[in-house]
Amino acid sequence: MDPCEVVVAVDLGGTRMKCGLVAADGAVLHRETRPTPRADARDGGRAVLDALLETVVELGQKATAEGHRVRAVGVVVPGVIDAEHGTVGAENLEWVGTPVLAELQAAVRAAHGDHVPIVLAHDVRAGGYAEFRQGALAGTTNSMFLPLGTGIAAAMIVDGSLVSGDGYAGELGHSKFIHGDAAELCACGQWGCLETVASAAAMARRYTARTGRTVDGAREVMQLLAAGDPDAAQVWHDALAALVDALVLYTTLVAPTRIAIGGGLVGAGETLLQPLREGVHARLTFQREPEIVAAVLGEEAGMLGAAQMAWDRAGADEEEQR
Ligand SMILES: [Zn+2]
Repeated sequence: MDPCEVVVAVDLGGTRMKCGLVAADGAVLHRETRPTPRADARDGGRAVLDALLETVVELGQKATAEGHRVRAVGVVVPGVIDAEHGTVGAENLEWVGTPVLAELQAAVRAAHGDHVPIVLAHDVRAGGYAEFRQGALAGTTNSMFLPLGTGIAAAMIVDGSLVSGDGYAGELGHSKFIHGDAAELCACGQWGCLETVASAAAMARRYTARTGRTVDGAREVMQLLAAGDPDAAQVWHDALAALVDALVLYTTLVAPTRIAIGGGLVGAGETLLQPLREGVHARLTFQREPEIVAAVLGEEAGMLGAAQMAWDRAGADEEEQR
């Protein structure tokens, strides 16, 4: 394997873009983060798209300047990616049917010519793919990656393949698990979604709503929980109940052997994982019980998955040309 061949990988998820130049063996030859501009509805998220294009082009130039050959580009973004049209809808980026793939293709073609393929994928699915190929889900054929972040989405490995559903699969965070008066309005427009109680953002928001006290994210809620704070205990209880429902549903439908929980909250370790295991164990009857573990690749998972997908594409294109 030529060590001077690289892919450009960018994960646009979160407030900072995670970027890398990654060799075929997975070695990250260069890594950096860049701020994601604040999305503005007035320009349809154009500033975010421009920053993404600029980042991809500059990383490619850096690779070339250092003597590497760019074999492919992998970009992963939040939201719903229409795989057929290469368009993205992402509320927090102000993108509505935004032609991200076409814009990337134009920018990459101008910088490198026609021969560099581009993969555009979902950030959570890419993170799950990285965990599957080189992380907590390695060696499984049926598994799930479930990061609890600003929102909740699942990356589903079914019979050895990452399921994308033409770009629409894995939205477990937008299944209704809270019913009646307790259901809160979700950003998606539905009431009582898993995300409204169990995302990291929701746990922090719900703690503040109960106590009037601002917290530094869900991590602080977990610390308060460990310290015996009753409001933190209630917020966690609600999150846990919905998460257990979601994991039991997923287990019943898809029979994973392992579930990797991701997001900053996994820093809470067994405080988070042990009640989930016990809750799921108590609810299963005939189903195969999954191991519930912490994801291991952390914030880099999406970028590493983007790189892996880009290398897969480069390899497939090579096969085709033979
Ligand atoms: Zn929702």
